Amino acid sequence: MTLAGIAGRTAIVTGAASGIGAATARRLATEGARVVCVDRDEEGLAAVVAELPGEGVAVTADVSREEDVERYMRVTHERFGTAELVFLNAGVGGPFASIFDVTTEQFDEIIAIDLRSVFLGLRAALRRLRDQGSPGAIVATSSLAGLRANELLVPYVAAKHGVIGLVKTAALSGGPLGIRVNAICPGIIETGLMQPFREAIGNDEERLAEFRALVPVKRFGAAEEVAGLVAYLLSDDASYVNGVAVPIDGGTTAGSASAVGRPR
Ligand code: NAD
Repeated sequence: MTLAGIAGRTAIVTGAASGIGAATARRLATEGARVVCVDRDEEGLAAVVAELPGEGVAVTADVSREEDVERYMRVTHERFGTAELVFLNAGVGGPFASIFDVTTEQFDEIIAIDLRSVFLGLRAALRRLRDQGSPGAIVATSSLAGLRANELLVPYVAAKHGVIGLVKTAALSGGPLGIRVNAICPGIIETGLMQPFREAIGNDEERLAEFRALVPVKRFGAAEEVAGLVAYLLSDDASYVNGVAVPIDGGTTAGSASAVGRPR
């Protein structure tokens, strides 16, 4: 089924060279959007754009740098007009260290990539849409780690909680202008981001199976499943959804299964 209000619009997807971003760029192009794909991985980006099932362009940029964010917005405007659909998704995971051990440099780096980037992207997109008098929809990628803490992901948890705060704030400013802003909170999704996690548990398949078993649907998610949620939130089908953080985690945040009375 085709989603309303995607075809013929211009979309920006950050982190488009891999994983959730790449799958979303493909999904939006399939729905008929022109897609500006942004990533710092030039090679990966070129491969994704070459395979897009529609019109697309690649912009190599570091989303934590203000001048790069202004540049990808400007290139979009010059090439396709102002983007009505924006997915602020680029991010990095780790480091795996508790509050006792994490360094200030590690903290600053993760906050810049995972939180500052969303602030910069939200502000730039909202200003452009406001100045054009255009409605729009923006989605930012938070995480399960934006809803509850993981002891060993100190700056990541802080950044992803911060993303939800930014999204709620932006939704209040965007709402009166017809610009909706929402967040998604993925659980464990099979993407490039899984690699540091795999390494942190010593590539131990048994431990990975234990993590999988903790998910109520008994599997990790696929990037395409997340792309489906993002495309919906960006579409006019979600026209009354604003300022929320939607978990997409196979039921993980719903609670823990009871060990009592459950057949093995
Ligand atoms: P991924 O590693 O496959 O993709 C992330 C992309 O972001 C990469 O292409 C990378 O080059 C790009 N990127 C990283 N830093 C950048 C920067 N400074 N400037 C420009 N591009 C940059 O991982 P993914 O799982 O697709 O991650 C996408 C988002 O989803 C991230 O924000 C991540 O935190 C979030 N997330 C992922 C999971 C998961 O389990 N995979 C869970 C929750 C949230």
